[in-house]
Parts: sequence; C-alpha cells; structure tokens
Amino acid sequence: MLIEKGEMGGDCLNYGCVPSKALIAAAKHAHAFRTGEAFGIASAEPKVDFAKVHDHVHSVIAAIAPHDSQERFEGMGVKVIRAEGRFVDGQTVEAAGERFRARRFVIATGSSPAAPPIPGLDSIDYLTNETVFNKTELPRRLIIIGAGPIGMEMAQAHARLGSQVTVLEAFDPLGKDDPELTSVVLEHIRREGVEILSRIKITGMRQTASGISVDIEFEDETRTIKGTHLLVAAGRRANMASLNLDVAGIETERNAIKIDTGLKTTNRHVYAVGDVTGGLQFTHVAGYHAGLVIRNALFRLPVRNETKHIPWVTYTDPELAHVGLTEAQARESHTDIQVLRWPFKDNDRAQAERRTSGLVKAVVSAKGHILGASIVGPCAGELIQPWGIAIAGNQKIKTMIDQVVAYPTLGEVNRRAAMTYYADLPSKPMVKAVIRLLKMFG
Ligand SMILES: Cc1cc2nc3c(=O)[nH]c(=O)nc-3n(C[C@H](O)[C@H](O)[C@H](O)COP(=O)(O)OP(=O)(O)OC[C@H]3O[C@@H](n4cnc5c(N)ncnc54)[C@H](O)[C@@H]3O)c2cc1C
Repeated sequence: MLIEKGEMGGDCLNYGCVPSKALIAAAKHAHAFRTGEAFGIASAEPKVDFAKVHDHVHSVIAAIAPHDSQERFEGMGVKVIRAEGRFVDGQTVEAAGERFRARRFVIATGSSPAAPPIPGLDSIDYLTNETVFNKTELPRRLIIIGAGPIGMEMAQAHARLGSQVTVLEAFDPLGKDDPELTSVVLEHIRREGVEILSRIKITGMRQTASGISVDIEFEDETRTIKGTHLLVAAGRRANMASLNLDVAGIETERNAIKIDTGLKTTNRHVYAVGDVTGGLQFTHVAGYHAGLVIRNALFRLPVRNETKHIPWVTYTDPELAHVGLTEAQARESHTDIQVLRWPFKDNDRAQAERRTSGLVKAVVSAKGHILGASIVGPCAGELIQPWGIAIAGNQKIKTMIDQVVAYPTLGEVNRRAAMTYYADLPSKPMVKAVIRLLKMFG
C-alpha cells in the first residue's frame, strides 16, 4: 500500500530534478544563440518566450509522469491512497479516515525547502522550488538566497534566459565540493553575468512597491540588493512533523529520522529512506535505499547503507560531479595519498567542441586504491560513473588505466588522469635497471 498526500512522483518529478533539468536545457539553448561566434555562426540575442519555456518544463513533467502514476502502481497491484498518513501506534498508520496495520512500514516522506531565520523573510512573498517552476513570466531581477547546487543551477539557468541574478550565500558557494573545482564553475557563472556574493549576512528585507529589498553586510560594508523576485534555496527540512513519530517509538536526530546502517528506525517494523533520513539528499540515493529495504524486508538479506560509492552532480555548465573522498577528506583519513589530474584542454573532443574548461581529479591511496574522484567540465555527470563503479568494487587505479576508451571521446580524460599515476615510473632507478637488463637479451 502506498500513501501519498501530494502529487505522485514526489519532489523529483514535480518540483525538483525534472523541472530544474528541463529549465536548464532551455537555458542551454538560449546560451548557444549567444556563443556561436567561435564556430563561425553569428551570435544573436535569443528571443525567450518564458510562457513557452514554462510549457516546455511542464510537458517534460507530463511525459515522465506516467512512470510514477497512480494507474501504473495500481496496475502493479499496489493499493494507492491519496491522503496524509500518520502513525497511531507502533504498527498502525491512519490515512483518509482508515487505520492500517502492517508488518513493515517504509517512511519516504522526503523534504521541503527550509526557511532560514532571516529578519523580514516572513513578510515576503518569496519563491521556493515548489513555486518557481510555475512562473510564466521571467523574473526580471532575481535574488537567490543560497549558493548550493539548487541555487547555482537556478541562478545560471535564469541568467541565461534573461534574468539579472544576484546570489547571496552565508558561507562558501557550492561549499560541499572541492574548491579547486568549484572555482571553475563559479568563474563561468560569474562571467555569464551572475553576481555571487559569499560570506554575507542578511540583516533585513522588505517588500517594496517595485519588488524586494535585501539588506546585507558584505566585506565590512552594508549594501541593499534590489530585485523583482526572491528565491530561497537555503537548505532542506525533513518532512516528519505530521507523522506522529512519538507514538510509534521512532526517534529523530539532527532534524531527520534516526536510522541504523540497515535503514531501520528505532521501531524495528519501520524503515526510513531518502531525504527524510538527512544525509545525501538525492533521488538516486532514495532509489538505492529502496533497493536495500526490499532486499532486507522481503528476503531478510543483511544490507548496509554505504555512501562511499554514491556520486552527486551539480547540473551547472560546466557540470560538477563527485564520488568518494575529496582530497581534503582523504588527507584526513590517509597518511599517504596521490592526487591525479587531467585537464579537459588536453582532450581532443573537448577541443573540437570548444568546451575545454575543467579537469578530472582523482585521489588514490598509497597502494593504488581509488578513494575518490571529482570532475568539473562538460558531461561531468556522465564521466563520473566509471569512478563510482571502481570505488564500489574497491578497484585499483590500474582498472581505469587498463580500459580501452574510444577516440575521440570526453571519457579519455578519466584514463589520462589515471595514467598520470605512473608518470614518474620511467625515471625510477629500479625500472631503469630492469629495462637495461632486458636490453641485454636483445
Ligand atoms: C530544485 C531541486 C532540484 C533537484 N535536482 C536533483 C537532481 O538533479 N538529482 C537528484 O538526484 N536529486 C535532485 N534533487 C533532490 C531530489 O528531488 C530528492 O532527493 C528526492 O526527491 C528525494 O526523494 P524522496 O522519495 O526521499 O522524497 P520526495 O520525492 O520528496 O517524496 C516524498 C513524498 O512524500 C509525500 N509525503 C510527505 N509527507 C507525507 C505524509 N505524511 N503522508 C503521505 N505522503 C506524504 C510528499 O507529498 C512527497 O510526494 C533536487 C531537489 C530540488 C528541490
């Protein structure tokens, strides 16, 4: 039985991944108009019809919706109840006025946009990921609070579609990723005209006749940023307030449902998966959790919720992707590591497509085990996949070197980065001696 109080498909389909990627795709088309010169195609300012961009976004949602529809699930034998669910006791849930007992429950209630404690925010009619994709008119001057992946994706997409965008960040933009790589993304987005102000403090904000004014402290100065619209993308809050977790003996920690390594809550009949557990809040993580729960609940197989092989991608242009340990994390946990790099400018396909910004960076243990990889550049989200497979299989860097990669593909960057592991091998006295010895045999 599936209990769903909102739209089938959850955040990802309706207010998250799908609409954001569709908007980004439209923005890429607009950007291509402006950047044809180097290919011999005259640049032109695109004529953006934002109502039609909105229709494009919603038609993409509609195209994918049947996969997550009530009809499809009912066709598979699932009883679907469209109502809010809440626990009545440790083994009973109430929804739509009925009570249901079950042997196992899975809480997959996701997360919602968090409202940071900013003076004046309450009085503003601000946008979140739940409302921004409903706009049929381009926000002319958009202020975004939060320079995480959602904030930066939305900033670049809106700027490319014609908005004037300012991003306000209390800490560092894209702060969960390696600064060596995020600097490439930020430079690009700034060059496209987005103002990104980091380490700022918002001291107040108000609605004015022409829009919204936000007062900030930035680099020891006070400034007022004016916009027509405000988008808040400053973190997520687990959806658990209405679940009556107390009566079911389900504990929470750090504003999320507490789970063990097998995804069980403190009530042994109840699992929790996805965003509501905090941690990595991505669709593929929720899907991975679901697979583990099925194995454990149906087949009683032991499962372990691992994170070391889970990639994440920020769909800016250039893309930013990561899996495993960052260089900083690897230095904390390992005494001896090697950092391997390869720039996209030394990749023939990247040159042909004039998409040469970025690099692959891999971190390898003293014995050659792959600890982590980060990529900034074209198709980084696709290129990170083999690193995830290698880490999941506890593979050594030799695996990446031994693959034969089609030429000319962007994927060559991965192998070339891996090959630098052996860069100083020919100069090692031992290797020189072996080569000299072998020469004697003709
Ligand atoms: C703008 C944006 C872009 C994103 N882009 C990406 C991306 O590119 N890639 C990626 O991997 N992730 C992305 N994410 C994150 C991704 O959307 C989430 O990680 C994912 O949706 C989490 O899945 P979930 O099943 O945990 O929760 P959800 O998909 O949020 O589903 C939870 C469901 O539970 C329902 N619900 C809540 N409480 C109750 C209740 N009491 N009773 C009944 N039903 C209830 C809700 O209505 C909702 O439908 C993005 C998120 C946002 C906001």
